[in-house]
Amino acid sequence: MKTLMAANWKMFKTRREAADCARELETRLEKLPADREAVLFAPFTALAACAEALGPGPRLRLGGQNCYPATEGAFTGEISPAMLLDCGCSHVLVGHSERRAILGESDEFIGKKCAFALNAGLDVTLCIGETLAERDGGMLRPVLDRQLAEALSGVPDDMPAERLCVAYEPVWAIGTGRVAGPAEIIETHALIRAFLRKRFASGKDEMRILYGGSVKPENTAEIISLDNVNGVLVGGASLRAESFGAVALAGLPA
Ligand code: PEP
Repeated sequence: MKTLMAANWKMFKTRREAADCARELETRLEKLPADREAVLFAPFTALAACAEALGPGPRLRLGGQNCYPATEGAFTGEISPAMLLDCGCSHVLVGHSERRAILGESDEFIGKKCAFALNAGLDVTLCIGETLAERDGGMLRPVLDRQLAEALSGVPDDMPAERLCVAYEPVWAIGTGRVAGPAEIIETHALIRAFLRKRFASGKDEMRILYGGSVKPENTAEIISLDNVNGVLVGGASLRAESFGAVALAGLPA
């Protein structure tokens, strides 16, 4: 299983800024070993510019930060998986906590997106995670189980495990500088692994579970060494090529 290093640029960067940063990242990722992969979730408006800057067959794969579960139609403001594929994407992010909290996305809607995007040919990174109130209220497991059950409800058992990643992003650790501790990450990733083993007849042990929440170059090597951590999803620290390059190459000999 390849370790996945994923960048989420959120609503940052003009086309020019994005293309320059993507190009620099691609150069830094020349040193990316064969057992690691890197994906960049860029804003919709910058995807085509990034694809052009990266050129054919780049190490850095491209993804959208969201999609709508339909091929085309009267869905003003939305973007379809087919449109993402047309912009050079191979991946899409689904269920980010900012979309759940700010845009009111439901577990059911996120489930529809997961199934539709996979079926359309995009690899999916599904974000799940609890708020601090939910964790403090003893609701960690029920919340994650509910989010996973709904999001995966339309995913068939024969879907190749490497096409879907689960990104565990505790809401209290996103953009706050407060990273979850190793014990919290190990415990939560074990819960997610157990859920996936029960949910899929084939076990899907090759399905990657990423950690996200205040990941930086300095803490990445430790995080990816933990049990059931198969990569990271990085927001703030992915905005500069130097910083995300250091995350992607963390723990490797200089
Ligand atoms: C994210 O946006 O998915 C994220 C994890 O952000 P940050 O790394 O800034 O906490």
